[in-house]
Amino acid sequence: MSRRPESFSKPQIVPSPKPLPDLSFVIPAYNEAGNITKTVAQVDAHARRLVNSFEIIIVDDGSLDATFEESQALCAQYPLRVLRLSRNFGKEQAIMAGLERSVGAAVVILDADLQEPLSHLETMLEHRAEGYNMVYAVRAQRRDETWRKRLFTHAFYALLNIGSDTAIPANARDFRLMDRRVVDALCALPERNRFMKGLYGWVGFRTKAVAIELLPRATGASKFGFAGLFKLGLTGLTSFTAWPLRVWTGIGMFIAACSILYALWIAVRTLIFGIDVPGWSTLVVAVMLLGGVQLISIGVLGEYLSRVFTEVKGRPGFIIAEDFSADREHQ
Ligand code: UDP
Ligand code: MG
Repeated sequence: MSRRPESFSKPQIVPSPKPLPDLSFVIPAYNEAGNITKTVAQVDAHARRLVNSFEIIIVDDGSLDATFEESQALCAQYPLRVLRLSRNFGKEQAIMAGLERSVGAAVVILDADLQEPLSHLETMLEHRAEGYNMVYAVRAQRRDETWRKRLFTHAFYALLNIGSDTAIPANARDFRLMDRRVVDALCALPERNRFMKGLYGWVGFRTKAVAIELLPRATGASKFGFAGLFKLGLTGLTSFTAWPLRVWTGIGMFIAACSILYALWIAVRTLIFGIDVPGWSTLVVAVMLLGGVQLISIGVLGEYLSRVFTEVKGRPGFIIAEDFSADREHQ
């Protein structure tokens, strides 16, 4: 059988590539079945008004409720893409999954619980037009939080910013508008222990803060209890500071100097007054204090080492189990 020469074969119709959207919305969602429909509707309404084209990416972070099914059902109606992670990887990783799959010229990260008023989008876009690469929301006040939480937050950011070259603003939210360049820079970072609020600052670029008042959560409860925040805080501290590792040299030197002075004092005292009652209580206190200080310093080493361990293992930060959208172009 003779083959037709190439020139006679039917011309291939290559579909022209879909133009990239102006804006991608990345929405991490963990057990947000009660909120997701309303959130998507609100995002859609605002985005239609503000930009020509947009995509919404919901990252279902291993939800146990119907978040994925609810989101899937919305795909017919909205320019929506739903990523389902294979399990709960945490908000930071869910955000990364969304950023990596987003294609818009700019990206907005948004919580799924409607706490962040979308009315600020317009201002954010205006600032972008003025030349800012990243426009982020900061909470105008934290009066609705307990004094304990405020104290911990304050202490955390103070510790985080000691000796760091990039100031990490307290009260900043993940709610922000970023240029593609900023998103690409964030996605290029290889680290797995991600503290996004630190990384946003680390990548640099021209940034602008916009003050917002947080609304109460639409339905459901916050996923970040004390334990969750503490864990995130430790990740933040270990990824952005080195002073807790170094401070022990200073503390060790101080304790050593004190013991030498104390030894001298004992020697002098013995020479003048002779041997008195054995100082067992001093001994016990000194041994316990030193034991405690040593355990703390080993614990701090352990925190850093455990992060080094996760980095060395090189496992991916998240696994995408399903990538769903109405046109299924991404499958
Ligand atoms: N979230 C997530 N994975 C988690 C925990 C939270 O994707 O493991 C999402 C959650 O669905 C919400 C956002 O992160 O869209 C913020 O969570 P939350 O409202 O619980 O935090 P808060 O507003 O109290 O800081
Ligand atoms: Mg919330």
